[in-house]
Amino acid sequence: MPQDLNDLKNNFNINNIKKLIKKYSSPFWIYDADTIYKKIKLLKQFDVIRFAQKSCSNINILRLMKNKNIKIDAVSLGEIERALLSGFQPNTNEIIFTADILDQETLFKVVDYKIPVNAGSLDMLKQLGKISPGHHVWIRINPGFGYGHSKKTNTGGENSKHGIWDPELAIPIIKKYKLKLVGLHMHIGSGVNYIHLKKVCQSMMKYAFKLNQEISSISAGGGLPVPYTFTEKPIDIKKYFNLWNEARKKISQFLGKKIELEIEPGRFLVAESGILISKVWATKKTGNKTFILIDAGFNDLMRPTMYGSYHHISVIPGDNRIINEQEMTDTVVAGPLCESGDIFTQEEGGTLQIRKLPIIKIGDYLIFHDTGAYGASMSSNYNTRPLIPEILIKNNNSFIIRRRQTIQEILQLEL
Ligand SMILES: *Cc1c(COP(=O)(O)O)cnc(C)c1O
Repeated sequence: MPQDLNDLKNNFNINNIKKLIKKYSSPFWIYDADTIYKKIKLLKQFDVIRFAQKSCSNINILRLMKNKNIKIDAVSLGEIERALLSGFQPNTNEIIFTADILDQETLFKVVDYKIPVNAGSLDMLKQLGKISPGHHVWIRINPGFGYGHSKKTNTGGENSKHGIWDPELAIPIIKKYKLKLVGLHMHIGSGVNYIHLKKVCQSMMKYAFKLNQEISSISAGGGLPVPYTFTEKPIDIKKYFNLWNEARKKISQFLGKKIELEIEPGRFLVAESGILISKVWATKKTGNKTFILIDAGFNDLMRPTMYGSYHHISVIPGDNRIINEQEMTDTVVAGPLCESGDIFTQEEGGTLQIRKLPIIKIGDYLIFHDTGAYGASMSSNYNTRPLIPEILIKNNNSFIIRRRQTIQEILQLEL
């Protein structure tokens, strides 16, 4: 949920942000460690919290997770390297590699470092088994249906590339190559509907019974939603936990052994911990629309263009005037990219969305709330724009945890 900038108890309050704007040049990301700690606490009932680092993969955020006993999910070789650099240990279950393919380099890395593999395809099991008998594996099951906040985040069902459709076929491969099956995993995309969740838990039980293997863990995957507006309700963690805990207990009874329950959130832990700050450089009237043009683009924050995602926007005046919240105008907020889709106020499919915002002037700053997940980690160099800095607020101090990339660094790759 967006933090109210006028509430001085919040770390993201107008005074703090004004100080940061003086200290760092726009645009930049800010994270609030306290928010991450609060979210971690909410999940303490789960045996293992495994952070899906793709949502926010800065090594300083990963270290902060490590200090709180969080484990890590890596979905690429780069993410494995980030996790190792952040202090997560090889040859343990601290890092799990989840994917649907294993390329050569990644295969060698997981074998050398004995990193458990959560396999989303039967081919991965064969390729791994051939060179690494005894390797710990999970099966990522496609339960045959999915759920997600957008078509692009739906991760189950016939149209999903993720997971193994018929996990029974995995067992002979696991046996043949003497792999060690440690867990069953399902990740069904972002969003929650408790009736749907019940179906997912039932599906997990069904497969655990059917496969009847000596597993030690099940994973509920990620996909826990967060409210992006002031009116959406936060997820009922108790209810979420209870449904999964029931499934865990039944599986545990059936197999006659202790089963650990893992959860693998990305967004839930970090979305609300981050904001994006950008400066207004131009305003335009086109017909009866007001366009506000800022120095951050979809190469920085991709979600509105990619999914039509909503991010609450607040205005910080660049001068000493007081923002009048009563006097709102129809506004479209756009970035600097040479691309008409570079609009922060749009619906899925690209329809412009008019946002009621106060009168905005050149030199003002716009704050995009709840951008800690899939913000910086989805940024690109499109239009040859350098990656922007990431700042962390921790113990009432602010630190640069990623400096701004230089244009020279981008060009260097091609020289
Ligand atoms: C992306 C992903 C997650 C996290 O999803 P959120 O919606 O951010 O919670 C968890 N597990 C896997 C395998 C993923 O790919």
